[in-house]
Amino acid sequence: MKIRIDGGVVVGWSGTSHELVPNGSVLLEGDKILAVGTDRSPAADRVIDASGKIVCPGFVNLHVHSQLNIGDYLLPDVTKKDYLAANWFVFGAPLKEKVTPPPAPAVALGRKYALYSALRNGATTVLDPGGGPGDLDDYVNIVGQLGGRVFFSPPYRSSDIFTDAQGRHYYEEREDRGRPGLKRAVEFIKKHHGAHNGRLQGILNPAQAETCEPSLLKESVAAAKELDVPIHIHAGGNFREFLQILNTYRKPVVEYLAETGILGPRTTIGHMAIRGGHSRVDYPRGNELKLLAESGATVGHCPYKCAKMGFAMESFDQYLAAGVRVGLGTDSYPLDIVAEMRYASLISRLVDKNAAGARPADVFNAATVAGAQALGRKDLGRLAVGAKADLVVINLRTTRYGPARDPINALVEYGSGADVETVIVDGEVVVENGRSTRIDEAELFAQAEAGTKRAWDNWPGRDWSSRSVEQIIPPAFPTRQS
Ligand SMILES: [Zn+2]
Repeated sequence: MKIRIDGGVVVGWSGTSHELVPNGSVLLEGDKILAVGTDRSPAADRVIDASGKIVCPGFVNLHVHSQLNIGDYLLPDVTKKDYLAANWFVFGAPLKEKVTPPPAPAVALGRKYALYSALRNGATTVLDPGGGPGDLDDYVNIVGQLGGRVFFSPPYRSSDIFTDAQGRHYYEEREDRGRPGLKRAVEFIKKHHGAHNGRLQGILNPAQAETCEPSLLKESVAAAKELDVPIHIHAGGNFREFLQILNTYRKPVVEYLAETGILGPRTTIGHMAIRGGHSRVDYPRGNELKLLAESGATVGHCPYKCAKMGFAMESFDQYLAAGVRVGLGTDSYPLDIVAEMRYASLISRLVDKNAAGARPADVFNAATVAGAQALGRKDLGRLAVGAKADLVVINLRTTRYGPARDPINALVEYGSGADVETVIVDGEVVVENGRSTRIDEAELFAQAEAGTKRAWDNWPGRDWSSRSVEQIIPPAFPTRQS
């Protein structure tokens, strides 16, 4: 099957960077890009008209938890009341005796919703650090069904996080989770890496810096090397974690990770915002950006999630200037990688008080080539001959943009994932006119609504003080009682 996409501005690849090809044409055959230029003479089975639109490489979203993440909607108000609970894992940590794993169908629904939402918003490749436990064969089937590209294996950790009856958090070692979890992940990768024409790729997910003991991280590095897959770990995502690491290992989180050997060119660190030297942390020593840059690791920056919790990475521009590779992820809903570029840019400018900072080109690179490099892939995140046929067509001729002088600047300044019209992965149109060609979006949405309502109704059952969702997050306005 050959597809030609004609017209519009094509974001091509010069060999060293993105470049714009006005009134361009992209030719795809099977899962590969055959040509990027202006020649419209090659025959194709299908021609897509992209006049007035921008034809971009498919975006790489480095942080998509495959779950409904109902707690995302609770984040902003919770942070106002209890700063230490200013992150999902902490305020969402249940009372130990109230832990009940969700049934496999509920987990499968969350996975399907999240992975579809990310794809619909323009991310042809996602890094999934894990969602609910669920059934792993379901996972493989969902990736097959939706048509996107996913890096995943089930996450593991050697400590769990709970709240006690007074709402205080504590970590509890779980020997039954760490190594057996790593073993399960390795088995998953051995069995499923490369499934669906390579759209499902393995990645090891030791969950968080402070929940994985050092020997488990070392074993993860060895296992990733043997399997030849990348690694993702959460670190620097909240104040609580920084203190836990500092107290346990008496060093800031990046130094700690560097000593375990887990930092390297194939490792992505989700968040990595809170570090020694961050304005929220009274820790005046160390040179963590230098350590990060030297290691070649990628920071999976999720600016919107941090902003929800009232802090910022300090800063996107400073990390780049220090030589740190920065990719972008959404983490929290909405899983909108297009808008995430704008948050990355604006928040960096605010932090640095520099209106000329965090240029659109830099955040666009972060959401494309940097994310692909983090995953060890030169054939993703760029429209080059021989690269994977993963691209998105975005409509810029709307009142949202007005007359756009430069499409990349316009996309970063004004764009939204809702503007993504067409998504192609592996040479197949998986989203057309903003709708999946493979699943019934309306049906999925209705199922997600019902599933979320069930979870919210059951929330008091897991909360340390049995609070309802309304008590945790009061509505914006009172509801009229009639
Ligand atoms: Zn996360």
